[in-house]
Amino acid sequence: MRLDRVAEDIFIVISEMYAQVTAAVIFTNQGAIVIDTLPYPAETRQMLSFIEDKLGADAVRYVVNTHCHADHVYGSYLFESATVISHDLCREILLRSGERLLARAQRENTNLAEVRLRPPQVTFANEMHLHLGPRHVRLIHTPGHTSDSIIAFTVDDRVVIAGDTMMPIPHISGGDITSLVASLRSIQELNPNFIVQGHGDVLLRGEVDEAIETNICYLVTITERVRELVERKQSLASLLSVDIEACGISRIPLDGLVGRIHQTNLNSLYQRFTTEESAD
Ligand SMILES: [Zn+2]
Repeated sequence: MRLDRVAEDIFIVISEMYAQVTAAVIFTNQGAIVIDTLPYPAETRQMLSFIEDKLGADAVRYVVNTHCHADHVYGSYLFESATVISHDLCREILLRSGERLLARAQRENTNLAEVRLRPPQVTFANEMHLHLGPRHVRLIHTPGHTSDSIIAFTVDDRVVIAGDTMMPIPHISGGDITSLVASLRSIQELNPNFIVQGHGDVLLRGEVDEAIETNICYLVTITERVRELVERKQSLASLLSVDIEACGISRIPLDGLVGRIHQTNLNSLYQRFTTEESAD
């Protein structure tokens, strides 16, 4: 894992094993708040020992799951003494399909052999406030990437820890574009000094607005392009003509993963629009 720092007491850990997924640690004199974990136990353990070096054992009070996806929640079980917090739907989804998906992931990837699912214990619907030591952290529902997505916002220094609501390319497969655009706007209204993206580098103050506008513009553009192709009865293969950079997104970040996410986004829109057409 790689370390970054956005405030005196806020550290970001970035996975070097899987898709540059990020997790954040907020240190206080009353213990730590961890927002997301890393997918592989080897790296979450490194994160844990980094925290223990500073605060001693069992110092993590809360683990926040920004959404139910494996790459963000699979390390929760390593923080045994912490309370796990999420959106209501995150707990529901993990209870419904978490064990089945984990068993499948473990068959495919030995790095996950020892992972155990740890469902959230405290959940909320719209917003929740965490107060620990001097820190006030707002947890806010921001659906779009998934229905259960939330962000964490540190009220004093305006750091948004965005989970996958903010990424170098929006990822909407299984999610909802209209909600994601609204959620990105609501992040913009928080006027953040930093955005910790769910994957990839931290966005600095000067980059925040442009990055959000780029992501919104991308979502609007792919919606128009795919709708047009479906209306003209073009095949699934025609999606390959929708170039990622023509939609305003660089293909470079996340070691090329953005290109695959782009195709997934197009596919899911295509499926949705063709189903809507046939229902008309
Ligand atoms: Zn993710």
